[in-house]
Amino acid sequence: MVDKDRNNMSEYKGYPVKNTYKYLGIKLNSQMSPITGLEETIKKLEIYLTRNNWINKNTLTPKSLLGLSMYFQRSRVIYGMACFLDMKNIIESVERANLKYTKSILGLVNQVNSDRLRVILNRPMDRHCLWVLMRENIRKYKNHFGEDPWIFNKIDSEYTKWLYSQAGKEEATKMIAVEKDNYGKFKWLISEYSIKALAKEDGIELSDGYREISNRKYYMAWDKRDGHMIRYLVNHGFFKARFIMTCKYCGEANSRTHVTNNCPAFDKLRARTWNDLDEIKKGRIKEEIRYKGDLEKALLDVYFKPGPDCVKQLEVLKKFSLQLVITNAKKMDSNS
Ligand SMILES: [Zn+2]
Repeated sequence: MVDKDRNNMSEYKGYPVKNTYKYLGIKLNSQMSPITGLEETIKKLEIYLTRNNWINKNTLTPKSLLGLSMYFQRSRVIYGMACFLDMKNIIESVERANLKYTKSILGLVNQVNSDRLRVILNRPMDRHCLWVLMRENIRKYKNHFGEDPWIFNKIDSEYTKWLYSQAGKEEATKMIAVEKDNYGKFKWLISEYSIKALAKEDGIELSDGYREISNRKYYMAWDKRDGHMIRYLVNHGFFKARFIMTCKYCGEANSRTHVTNNCPAFDKLRARTWNDLDEIKKGRIKEEIRYKGDLEKALLDVYFKPGPDCVKQLEVLKKFSLQLVITNAKKMDSNS
């Protein structure tokens, strides 16, 4: 019994009245919301934010670090939450907490843009994963009990509408038709639309094969440069105008675009990087000309629009991300 009307009764018809009630592992409060339990779980998991610093990141690949965070943190926060998809605050808490742990395990500050990091790490919105799970549960329920759990209809139709808006009517109908026989495929496709929507909002152009290639080839071995590459991609570093508004080398407006494409302090690095890209491409037109001097775009394309040479090209991006930080540090030293 939960005291919804706050009558302060200790007993009702012989049942004890409580403030919270645990049902199937989820603690519900008097408003039938899991927020109290969720907040407790998140609070308990805060300990990992400290422990994440202790992990020897030299021996673990970002892939295994993410695996650890998925296993110990995300799985606990997300447990049972498919039932509460209609509670916006719950889902937002779940997503915020999950990304906080992911950032912490990768050694990133919490301020980095979460949506962009999701695209980089190929990680869809938790709400979309939960929706897929919710539909699977609805299907199982119908099969088992022979009745419709109508309470979920409203939220299900909201997400179905989202899918229609993303995939178009024809494609969405096809996807829903395969769902019953191929749950995995449906899940993959929903994740794909989730990532695409995030990328679009952030102005990132993704190639069609991005998710598959990223799954198979990115972050396969430990590489110290990965952290620098991720930081460059999320646009978080000395080039951020929010930290330093004007470039300390030339006085122009500071930005990632500025240091990558225009700043004279990085001329040498820029020329070297164009060369490196040309060596892989071996095209008739030089990459610098093909990209009209937009090295930032060329480097983002390396990551987000991977081609057959993606591993070699990624090498150029990693080298650049690290050298950018080193060059900056050296110049700072010599200036002081
Ligand atoms: Zn500059």
